[in-house]
Amino acid sequence: MMRWVLMILGCMASDAWSANQVVWYPKARTFDLRVKDVPLEVFLGMVKAETGWEVKVEPGLQQIVSGKFRNKPAADAIRLMLGRVRFAFLPRLEGGTRLLVYAGNTRSATQSVAAVEQAAADNENPDEALIHLPVKIHYLKSRYVSINADTKLTNLRPLFAGANEIWGQGKVRFVPGRPEQLLSADTVAEKEFADLFKPSVPSAYVRLHQSRILHRMIPDFPDRGKVFRIIVLYTMPDAFGAVYMPKKGVVLMPQVKFAGLIDKGGVWKDGSPVFFAQSNILAHELGHALGLPHVATQGNLMIDGRLREGSGVGPGTKLSEKQIETARAQGKTGGPRVPGINPKTGD
Ligand SMILES: [Zn+2]
Repeated sequence: MMRWVLMILGCMASDAWSANQVVWYPKARTFDLRVKDVPLEVFLGMVKAETGWEVKVEPGLQQIVSGKFRNKPAADAIRLMLGRVRFAFLPRLEGGTRLLVYAGNTRSATQSVAAVEQAAADNENPDEALIHLPVKIHYLKSRYVSINADTKLTNLRPLFAGANEIWGQGKVRFVPGRPEQLLSADTVAEKEFADLFKPSVPSAYVRLHQSRILHRMIPDFPDRGKVFRIIVLYTMPDAFGAVYMPKKGVVLMPQVKFAGLIDKGGVWKDGSPVFFAQSNILAHELGHALGLPHVATQGNLMIDGRLREGSGVGPGTKLSEKQIETARAQGKTGGPRVPGINPKTGD
């Protein structure tokens, strides 16, 4: 009897939570929120997971929070949610944002809040035009340090928040899933990849062979073209911020490019130029996955990196109507562009 009661309670809790949503726009520093009757610590955990902020709360502080709004600046949003509970945003010496929540004074906010994962499903989508695209996340596991990705750096959500802020203009939203480990498909290729880092290997050789070796290392997933996928590996000798592999339907991301943006506690240095460069790069590669080729237009998200002018890091953020149309058509299939599979007709 007791067991049934617990199961039913469990179901109710997960149903209630799946309707809750915290969406962060790191450039605008605004929130879209839809939260109903959630304990304070769960709400703060959702905020932490989505923003990558450090969030600390006064121990024992209890409150049930609810709220529903869009486009609220961060401080207004938190004030609306917390009511009479006090809070402060403080800069961190290490970079990033610290949110303190307390009843007395800032010094009483001593307890670190753990990230709370949001359900990927969005049953109560207020905007019917919005296309939700689940993304599978894999970390390559390997005995070679150049390949092996640190699975503790699992929360890519803040980076996705940046990429989604850009893709908002196309009403496309990527939803990262729970990370999984992945083994290389070819152990010989794995060694060849690791050998590319030897100082004696000329860079021309690396440029010539890196892609071919990576294509052997990354498996041919049976569902390629049907699901968006990101594979994180430690580094790449001919370093990109990330790269889309159209035959595999995979965005490959070298962890070193963004690992410096996260500290040991999982706090992201949000708001830094490098953070935005990296989230723009992710948005750019997801653009390739949505079937967009390079363009020569300055300020466009899909500008060819070699044509980029000025000192700005990362690609631009703009998309043309035509690009949005193409991307949405691909997005409606639910999977990335993999010639021969999605669309079936190839190039
Ligand atoms: Zn590109």
